[in-house]
Formats: sequence, C-alpha cells, structure tokens
Amino acid sequence: MKINLTVEEKAFEANVKDFLASELPSNIKQKVLQGRALKKEDHVRWQKILYEQGWAAIDWPYEYGGCQWSAIQKHIWAAQCAISAAPEVIPFGLDMVAPVIYTYGNDAQKERFLPDILASNVWWCQGYSEPEAGSDLASLKTTAVIDGDYYIVTGVKTWITYAQHADWIFCLVRTGSPQTVNNDALSFLLIPMDSPGITVTPIISMDGAHEMNEVVFENVGVPIENRIGEEGKGWTYSKTLLNHERAKLAHVAVSKNRLQELKKAAHDTLTGHGSLMDDPRFSAKLARTEIELTALEFTEFRTLIAESNDTDPGPESSILKIVGTGVSQSIDELFVELAGLYVLPFIDPESAEKFAGTQIIPKQTINTARLYFNNRKASLFGGSSEIQKNIICKDVLGFDLNEKRGEK
Ligand SMILES: Cc1cc2nc3c(=O)[nH]c(=O)nc-3n(C[C@H](O)[C@H](O)[C@H](O)COP(=O)(O)OP(=O)(O)OC[C@H]3O[C@@H](n4cnc5c(N)ncnc54)[C@H](O)[C@@H]3O)c2cc1C
Repeated sequence: MKINLTVEEKAFEANVKDFLASELPSNIKQKVLQGRALKKEDHVRWQKILYEQGWAAIDWPYEYGGCQWSAIQKHIWAAQCAISAAPEVIPFGLDMVAPVIYTYGNDAQKERFLPDILASNVWWCQGYSEPEAGSDLASLKTTAVIDGDYYIVTGVKTWITYAQHADWIFCLVRTGSPQTVNNDALSFLLIPMDSPGITVTPIISMDGAHEMNEVVFENVGVPIENRIGEEGKGWTYSKTLLNHERAKLAHVAVSKNRLQELKKAAHDTLTGHGSLMDDPRFSAKLARTEIELTALEFTEFRTLIAESNDTDPGPESSILKIVGTGVSQSIDELFVELAGLYVLPFIDPESAEKFAGTQIIPKQTINTARLYFNNRKASLFGGSSEIQKNIICKDVLGFDLNEKRGEK
C-alpha cells in the first residue's frame, strides 16, 4: 500500500527513523532480527526508552500520556518499528488493562495505576481463562465473595502469559449471589501477585518456551477498592479490552517486514532451476500471502482511522485478528518450506549465536522452527479463530447462528 505523505508526515517519519537508529539497543535489535525470545529486562528497557521519549502509549488519550498521533503517524510508527526490528510492546499493561482503567476506573485508580503502567514500572498479566472456561469465558468459576472491606478470591486461572514476571494481574471473577446468571455476575478485579494465597506454576509450550502459567487463588484477600467500575459489569468492561486486544493482533507491519526477508531468503536459495523464487508453486503461495497481507493492511488502516476518531475498534477487530494470524502463520510455513530439511535441527538460540562455521541456510531461517511452533498459539489466544468467525457472523454480518441451527 503506497501512501502519499505530506511534508509534515515525511518530517515525522524522519524523526522516527532517527530515534530508532540512535535509541534501539543493538543487542535487543539482534535478538528480534534472529527471532529469539526476549527477556523481561529487554522489554522493560525498551519500553522505558519509549516512555522517556513520550511514545510508550501511542493509543492512550493525550490527558493520560498518549501521543495524539493521526492514523498515518501510527502507521508510520508501526512500519518503522518493524523495519528497525524494535520489539513489540508487551500489551497487558499498556494496551489492555490501561484502557479499562482510564475508561471505567475512578480518579483514585487512574492516579494510582496509570503512571506506573506508562513508565513500565509494573508488569501486568491477564487472568481471564480457566480450565473449563476459555472460549466460553462467561462460564468462569473463580469466585470473589465479600468479607468486610475485601473480596475473598478462590479459583484457578490458566494459560496466563508472563504471570511469572507479573506484579499485578487483572481478573474476571464471579461476584454476587450464585443465582445471578453468567455475564451479570462477573466483575473486574486488580490483584497484586504477591498476595498471600497465590501460586504460579509454569506451563511449557511445544517450542520449549515458558511463557504461560497456571495461577491458583486460595482465599486471596483483595481490597474492594481494587474493583474497576460496578460489581457485575466486568463483562462489559472486558469486551472493550478484548476489542482493543484483537485490533492489535493483526501485526501487519511485522508481517510485511518478514515477507520481505522471506523473499530475500528465497532469492538466495538455489534449486535445480534457478532460485526458489523461480519455483511456480512457492512463488504462487508467496503471492497469495502478499495479496492477503495487502488487503489486511487496508482493513487495519480503516480501524486506525476509526480509533483516531475515538471510536472503539468494535467487533470488526475480529477480522484483523483472524486474517492477521492466518497471514503470519502462512509466512511461518513458507519459511519452513524454504529451509526444508535444515529446519529440523532445533538449535537453541544461544548456541546458534556462538556458531562460527559456514552457514548453509539463509540467516533468516535460523529460528524458523522455534517461530513456527511458537506462533501456532496465535490461533488461540485473544479468542480462537473459530470464535472470531462466530463473532464476525453475529456482530458484523448480523447473522443469527442459533436461528440457522433451528435452536430458536
Ligand atoms: C499461548 C497462549 C497464551 C494465552 N495467554 C492467556 C492469558 O495471558 N490470559 C488468559 O486469560 N488467557 C490466555 N490464553 C487462553 C486463551 O484465551 C484460550 O486458550 C482461548 O480463549 C481458547 O480457550 P480454550 O483453550 O479453553 O479452548 P476451548 O474453549 O476449550 O476450545 C477448544 C476448541 O474448540 C473450539 N470451540 C470452542 N467453542 C466453540 C464454538 N462455540 N464454536 C466453534 N468452535 C468452538 C475452539 O475454537 C478451539 O479450537 C492463552 C492461550 C494461549 C494458547
């Protein structure tokens, strides 16, 4: 997609390029380029650099520390970050709980939580899913029962990303009487992770990474003042959050950059008939992925413009999530196809970095296997692809699934 930039926008782009060239630490950039996992301290270091620049929370309202950037400026920022291999911001504080706090929290909560989120002084995690409540989130069973000035929270949350690093967890919990039906009984609580009664147990994913955890709450006392908004309105608040979360999951700029790397690697990969780019099957798949990515970029742009006009991303964000996931997984698959047999040695990143011999596969494919396996998760977190299709059907197309099934 080609955008004709104004003089001011070109100056902004130059400013962003200069900033990224001078401020992005080279060791963090190298890790991103090699597809290696970043440590907590890498993320915090980069987010604090953004904070110092005033660019940590580009989507927040200006009064709380946002940037007041136009849709074009946000587009330029995302594109330049991807080209410069800057890490994506960890979303749980800045992009997920913060919009709920500044939209539905009281003044005391805004003052207490937003500055530390903005400065990345605290690390947050998201406590929604439970062993029997993932897609059907409203059936969650973790209870919060009032006792004096406290809620006593009991239950199990699962798949919680980066809970091992978190200072706070934002949770959907079941409040009110047991008779209150599903959505109307959910409340939104902010809970310190060092509260007595919380246990965090690692869940290791198939790429060997420790990102997810089970978090068990045993009679954890949480001050009532840590509830956001009204009791029983947690579902409404969390829907806003999920729309923001999904709108961020398209990863267009990152996919565009990876696609360019894929093309370079395909040009460098020789076959019996020229390079892999000359292989009609491979180049047809690559072209289809590129076309989908371009269409996605237009859709993302429409969402950015809507957000610039202070409109909630809405259920259309499901389209971004589902297509963005499909495109990034197609790119993973094409990298695997390109690397062929050489993708099999599942080298740990530290050893790969120390390797001094001749590289027999393009450098872009060193971490192909890790990325391929790790990125399978994208079809699940933030709501599975099937659930996104249901949302698009019902809330975007206005199609009643129950009526179609004859259940009405
Ligand atoms: C890597 C990773 C990180 C995550 N991080 C977090 C986190 O930080 N915090 C958090 O709260 N959660 C997190 N999750 C959980 C995530 O939100 C859930 O995995 C997701 O909502 C799906 O729930 P489930 O795993 O229980 O699957 P289920 O709901 O049991 O679904 C199983 C399968 O059935 C399909 N299915 C279910 N219902 C329907 C339906 N009505 N129509 C069609 N198909 C259906 C689903 O699409 C899926 O394929 C994470 C998950 C992953 C994989």
